[in-house]
Amino acid sequence: MAKQQFKAESKRLLEMMINSIYSQREVFLRELISNASDAIDKIYYKALTDESLTFDQENYYIKVTPNKENRTLTITDTGIGMTKEELENNLGVIAKSGSLAFKTENELKDGHDIIGQFGVGFYAAFMVADVVTVVSRALGSDEAYKWQSEGAEGYTIEPHEKDTVGTEIILQIKENAEEENYDEFLEEYSLKTIIKKYSDFIRYPIKMDVSGQRPKEDSDDELESYVEEQTINSMVPIWRKNKSELTDEDYEKFYQEKHYGFDKPLKHIHISVDGTIRYQSILYIPENMPFDYYSKEYEKGLELYSNGVLIMNKSADLLPDYFSFVKGMVDSEDLSLNISREMLQHDRQLKLIAKNINKKIKNELQSLMKNDREKYETFYKAFGRQLKYGVYSDFGSNKEVLQDLLLFHSSKENKLVSLDEYVSSMPEDQKYIYYASGESIDRIEKLPQTELVSEKGYEILYFTEDIDEFAIKMLMNYKEKEFKSVSSGDLGIESDENEAQTETERAENKDLFDFMKNVLSSKVKDVRISKRLKSHPVCLTTEGDVTIEMEKILSAMPD
Ligand code: ADP
Ligand code: MG
Repeated sequence: MAKQQFKAESKRLLEMMINSIYSQREVFLRELISNASDAIDKIYYKALTDESLTFDQENYYIKVTPNKENRTLTITDTGIGMTKEELENNLGVIAKSGSLAFKTENELKDGHDIIGQFGVGFYAAFMVADVVTVVSRALGSDEAYKWQSEGAEGYTIEPHEKDTVGTEIILQIKENAEEENYDEFLEEYSLKTIIKKYSDFIRYPIKMDVSGQRPKEDSDDELESYVEEQTINSMVPIWRKNKSELTDEDYEKFYQEKHYGFDKPLKHIHISVDGTIRYQSILYIPENMPFDYYSKEYEKGLELYSNGVLIMNKSADLLPDYFSFVKGMVDSEDLSLNISREMLQHDRQLKLIAKNINKKIKNELQSLMKNDREKYETFYKAFGRQLKYGVYSDFGSNKEVLQDLLLFHSSKENKLVSLDEYVSSMPEDQKYIYYASGESIDRIEKLPQTELVSEKGYEILYFTEDIDEFAIKMLMNYKEKEFKSVSSGDLGIESDENEAQTETERAENKDLFDFMKNVLSSKVKDVRISKRLKSHPVCLTTEGDVTIEMEKILSAMPD
């Protein structure tokens, strides 16, 4: 039989992948099991729309069978199987995902719980196997085929016997080499551990024949060996479990399994509400900003499940824009499985859930700020700008939610402070919340305008981002204290005692000021004696609402 060649680029890709995508070899099992689970999901999905099909949960499972003598590991599923063409297309072309195609063909955009979409997982098998054999019979077909490959060299395909619909994947596990040992992939115990570790929430039973010893009947001291089929995975999704049963690692594992991000989540929020609305949710605050976060490509949203079945990959309605960095899922028994995107938008339940979630996220962030400042500042570095945009683009109640989450660099002690912290440490005579804008902290520190305020012992917030001042303008005040730029004309710092002296100075130098004003007439509105300067001879100030920094930004904007 002639071997068919992988296309050249596929060959390279395969080698690259085998060596680099997966840091741990054991994930090959996770990949094959998730493919098996996808294959069962496909039957399940078909049964929803095809009346001639029934889906009897008991008949659907995945089985893992090691054989030490032959050094084989077999993964069997009772899923939808593959036709000859599908074997060729899905396993013969790397990075081609039959599962993704299935979702598209069936218009399952927001589809089903189908995991696959990249079309590379299957090849992870070659990390541990020399030869991979796939025997498959597709739903609705009497024929079965055997696909076989030794890796980058290509594959063969031929008719084969198989009594039942589904797929059997037989891995010829590699021989041990000097520093490489592959025996664990033939050991019952370690296989069980790997399954538990990666595939515990797979919704179908993953079975294994487990051998053990037990006391013989009618005898106290004699043992007999037995083999028993066990289901290894717990199947219950993590969000249905009790918080007290779960560890941080469990949540992190779920985050990774779900591909919510490549980082470790900074914090998880597990919500279980059982009142007028019923829902469970696991939310994550990522540690790092996704690379496309501030681009148009970035899509916010949470996975939405209806009673354990995924109905939408990214339900944008569940998150306000200012929390668009939050990842996670929501499962509610009160949502219909067949609900459409349009209907969802108007769904009352969904709105209530969204509102509830919004509140929880805010509270969690606030308590993070209070209880783990370092973590909060890491978060703020990544996503603080988004919160400020939230304040700025306020059309409703964003302000109330967000103002307590903001941090700004403070003139005191070179650290970040919240508005609450600022206001509570204000001296009694201080009327305003002072701020200064500039390109960098260094630059702001050198501004002559900050001198008087600092001398008074008042703290100044340093605004270094374009959005800062705009956001503050939207807030207008915090706890009844107005914001005031240090470069505004009236600083609200009284010094009446010198008023008379200033008056005299002004009169004495009238000619000089008139002259300066005249010369600078196209640049400034007035030239005055200043009370705010200490070590600088001169500074610029503004009148009205728009400060110098804002003016710079506004004039840089396209008309
Ligand atoms: P992905 O799962 O990301 O689509 P894989 O490389 O893991 O990519 O699998 C490629 C394709 O092969 C799948 O999309 C699916 O169409 C098919 N496939 C793999 N394993 C099975 C299986 N056990 N039963 C049916 N189809 C399978
Ligand atoms: Mg896969």
